[in-house]
Amino acid sequence: MLLQEERELVVEYGKKLVQFGLTEGTFGNLSCYDPDEGLMCISPSGMDYFKTNPEDVVVLDLDGKRIEGAAKPSSEVDMHRIFYKNRPDVRAVVHTHSVFCTTIACMHKEIPPIHYNVAYCGDKVPCIPYVTFGTQDLAEAVYARMGDEYNACLLGNHGMIAVGSSMSFAFDVAEQIEFVAHLYYNTLVAGDSGVPLSQEDLNYVLGKFGSYRQR
Ligand SMILES: [Zn+2]
Repeated sequence: MLLQEERELVVEYGKKLVQFGLTEGTFGNLSCYDPDEGLMCISPSGMDYFKTNPEDVVVLDLDGKRIEGAAKPSSEVDMHRIFYKNRPDVRAVVHTHSVFCTTIACMHKEIPPIHYNVAYCGDKVPCIPYVTFGTQDLAEAVYARMGDEYNACLLGNHGMIAVGSSMSFAFDVAEQIEFVAHLYYNTLVAGDSGVPLSQEDLNYVLGKFGSYRQR
């Protein structure tokens, strides 16, 4: 079976998405990329994370052609593929409908740097307006907004995406940005919008995280 190790990661972290409250039901999807093989593997479309086995994970090339696996790949495959094609630092992509990120995304707001954990993403968390889910247009809009600069983005009226140099790091990004989104939501509810970190403090944290992000 191709990409055995990566398929097992997709299964393991799919369950974690639900266990950590980052998604519900069958929403969200995740993938890994093996640069040596030039192949990616992605969670199947609409399958219960607790009933998904490694053989259900679909292997594709970067043109989107199915190489192995009988299941239908996630409908957001283009949004994963575009990062593997364009960012050599990205080896895993996690897409969730986590509640606080999605709440902020429904307001089409970016998340300012009100907590230093924002550095898991960059100097803030950007947001794009709604683009139809499961389309190449959505993939292009997300990639255009994130470029090489950000590890996450809010998807207007939809959810969020996180990328990383490993599955564990992409998952950390999704989890930490949900935490920051929750804080930002709380500040908005409290009638304030929080005090952003100064540029100097932010630069220090981004420098510290720079080496961590490469792992
Ligand atoms: Zn989605």
